[in-house]
Amino acid sequence: MMGLMQDWPLLIHRIIDHAAIQHGGRPVISRSVEGPMHRTTYAEVRARALRLAKRLAREGIRPGDRIATLAWNTWRHLEAWYGITGVGAVYHTVNPRLFDDQIVYIVNHAEDRVLFLDLTFVPLAERLAPRLTSIERYVVLTDAAHMPETSLRGAVAYEDWLAEADGDFAWTTVEENAAAGMCYTSGTTGMPKGVVYSHRSNVLHSMAALAPDMLGLSSRDVAMPVVPLFHANGWSFAFSAPMAGATLVLPGPKLDGPSAYEMLDANQVTITAAVPTVWLGLLQHLEATGATLPHLRRVVIGGSACPRAMTEKFRDRYDVEVMHAWGMTEMSPLGSVCSLKPEHMGVDAEGWLDVKARAGHAPFTVEMRITDDEGRDLPWDGTSFGRLKVRGPAVAAAYFKGEGGEILDETGFFDTGDVATIDSTGNMQVIDRSKDVIKSGGEWISSIELENLAVGHPDVAEAAVIGVAHPKWDERPLLVVVPKAGRSPSREGVLAHLEGRIAKWWMPDDVVVVEEIPHTATGKIQKTALRDRFRDYRLP
Ligand code: ADP
Repeated sequence: MMGLMQDWPLLIHRIIDHAAIQHGGRPVISRSVEGPMHRTTYAEVRARALRLAKRLAREGIRPGDRIATLAWNTWRHLEAWYGITGVGAVYHTVNPRLFDDQIVYIVNHAEDRVLFLDLTFVPLAERLAPRLTSIERYVVLTDAAHMPETSLRGAVAYEDWLAEADGDFAWTTVEENAAAGMCYTSGTTGMPKGVVYSHRSNVLHSMAALAPDMLGLSSRDVAMPVVPLFHANGWSFAFSAPMAGATLVLPGPKLDGPSAYEMLDANQVTITAAVPTVWLGLLQHLEATGATLPHLRRVVIGGSACPRAMTEKFRDRYDVEVMHAWGMTEMSPLGSVCSLKPEHMGVDAEGWLDVKARAGHAPFTVEMRITDDEGRDLPWDGTSFGRLKVRGPAVAAAYFKGEGGEILDETGFFDTGDVATIDSTGNMQVIDRSKDVIKSGGEWISSIELENLAVGHPDVAEAAVIGVAHPKWDERPLLVVVPKAGRSPSREGVLAHLEGRIAKWWMPDDVVVVEEIPHTATGKIQKTALRDRFRDYRLP
């Protein structure tokens, strides 16, 4: 016997339709790439997305066609996502911080037909254009007044181009499992691989993301995703904020501490999200100026482990709760968020930090396991660690064009490449990426844990731990630190700070002070570059 409920495919246009009807006047506030602040509403975003869908249809764009974006978080980028998916096409966010060759590779691999780009990226696109063989038209996300002279093929100013269509258009209906978006992994191992989201996966993922124990978004929130839309599907904010009816604040091209603070303060932002390096910049700015965050309630931190010292500072100095999150591009991206369960009620201030040091529990749509190398489940006791595997409706089943072959195990779970523990409350902690974990004398040392402790030292701004070859132990940890401005941490001082906080054999064999640690295109420590640099390093 079948259920007798309506068939209502989970299509992305329903999100912006809902926002326009229920929360039509809610502001969408952006720092424009041209400079000034810009205000619009969900009703207006929807109206312009309909125009865009019509304009794309007139351009000959058909369901399934890929359209690339090289753009910051602004209202125009938001409209582009809804306009593109509204005509059944597929948004493909390109990370402008990738190397030239990687950008060329992924745009050609995705066979993108149109490239939407911000003014910032016109020089980049001009440099790469001769090699971008599938792009038929470049749409610069600006108006006629700001449109530069450019050699880009078929280049038009977005506002002029949009004005050629009216909004009299019906969203193109596709199957809910049809492709809606693409994002390539950053390619730390081999060439980037394309992750293809569907309408259904994006809708379900956003519903899961805005649940109270996850991001907990409501129409009373003012949400500012500092995390760019081009990093791992923008952590769902382009969908979950309108779905909840939250005011959306988009920081445009300026992600530094003072600029992020300006947006947080001026717009009374209540929830924000980004990788730890962004918050390092904000906290330094707050410290230097004495500014506070009276409106901000929650800050979602993921992409890399959030150091305990950061969670503590947000809580104790600024009364802001860190929502430690874990996820990956392949998971749309949210895999877990650390919100307290009833089991944690009554923990003291230190215990609260212990809970928050872990990456949290999975939403309804994510099944999680930790297994040994033979695929046997390991206990959720907080200490047994193994391969972290996931399954769910917003987890990749394969990469675009079958790159990388079969990616699910025989039980249908995806191996995340992370090594993790899960405690009895379901609170997961990433110990390391399996390729970063340090193997010393047959035992594992967590580089993440050492890094998080090291940045708790008052003179250390950033820390990275890598394994260096050792004749007796195979590998031993080397700690690389960047000092805070005007400070000069000593080897002995830093090691003394770790003493008593870790097992003796985890103690790094040496500490090197450097001016800068290299980062990946998504703001993570680039361990491969560090390993290259210190390949022949002689440990004392
Ligand atoms: P990229 O590698 O392209 O930057 P992803 O965002 O997909 O893209 O990276 C996912 C990886 O980031 C995870 O597999 C994990 O190793 C790491 N990561 C994400 N969140 C956390 C976290 N809270 N703690 C530790 N590692 C994390």
